[in-house]
Amino acid sequence: MDTQEKEKTIPSILIVDDNDAIRESIHQFLTMVGYNSFTAPSAESALEFFKKNSLDVVITDIMMNGMDGLELTERIKKKYDADVIVMTGFSADYSYEEAINIGASDFVFKPVRFEELLLRLKRVLKERQLSKDRIHMLNELKKLAITDDLTGLYNSRHFYAQLEIEVNRSKRYSHPLSLLLLDIDHFKDYNDTYGHVKGDQVLVMLGKVIQSCLRRLDTAYRYGGEEFTIILPETMADEAAIVAERIKRAVKSNKLSPEPGKEVSITISIGVTEYAPGEDLSIFVHRADKAMYISKTRGKRQNHLPES
Ligand code: GH3
Ligand code: MG
Ligand code: MG
Repeated sequence: MDTQEKEKTIPSILIVDDNDAIRESIHQFLTMVGYNSFTAPSAESALEFFKKNSLDVVITDIMMNGMDGLELTERIKKKYDADVIVMTGFSADYSYEEAINIGASDFVFKPVRFEELLLRLKRVLKERQLSKDRIHMLNELKKLAITDDLTGLYNSRHFYAQLEIEVNRSKRYSHPLSLLLLDIDHFKDYNDTYGHVKGDQVLVMLGKVIQSCLRRLDTAYRYGGEEFTIILPETMADEAAIVAERIKRAVKSNKLSPEPGKEVSITISIGVTEYAPGEDLSIFVHRADKAMYISKTRGKRQNHLPES
């Protein structure tokens, strides 16, 4: 782990207290224990600090001149991703419930005992890490649920969800929307000749080539076995046809070597359709399918069978 990486994993803590002695002693203690510790003499200066720095935990006094610690907590929780531990004297009017209700993660009484503060801080940091891990895992699961594992493109489930969103957007704003449907030519022959594993490699290659031809808003999906779709928002059929041509050429010029010393390329057929206002989603997809078959029949008259 290099210094920079290490730096990142050391939690950053901000101590907010208008009492210089308390603020500085906690700061020195936390620095000694090994945290990246910072200080602010008021809630206002703490919020300024947030504008330029990211923090893991804020330890704040409640009673301060100007903005108090509870309002500071509220503002931090609304805008930033940091935990807050509040400190208060026994005689204060503020309650534990009040602090927790506005989003504080924990509460310590003054005078602060360093050992207790450290225990609470460690617990807050641990929960923080667990919650980050959970969010990360959920995001990974969400990604997995919409990804085709062979090609890394989106899967067909996500295709229908996205198409519905795009169709609705197109209807609402009267913006054009196009759809491409791609199918590999004579893919059964390729599988029969070189084997299913080599066929899978073609699908992987095709996924990469398609990805490299997409524009900013376009998204590609593995629709079925050897069929792919591309949603092109803000795109009319003639522009979509240009994208389709670009993909076809890129696929054709990509050389495959299914056997040592053998060099082949594949061809694909692409159906191009533009969404017709008011039309049903399934009819839109069906038209893309039909367009693909027409292009396939035409192409087959022009293209030779792949070498075998
Ligand atoms: P056409 O030119 O008319 O498209 O003919 P084709 O042989 O490509 O099409 P057909 O629909 O007859 O067959 C599609 C083939 O795609 C059948 C199957 O072997 C192959 N296929 C579908 N999914 C996969 C897959 O995940 N991996 C591999 N290797 N092959 C697949
Ligand atoms: Mg097919
Ligand atoms: Mg095919």
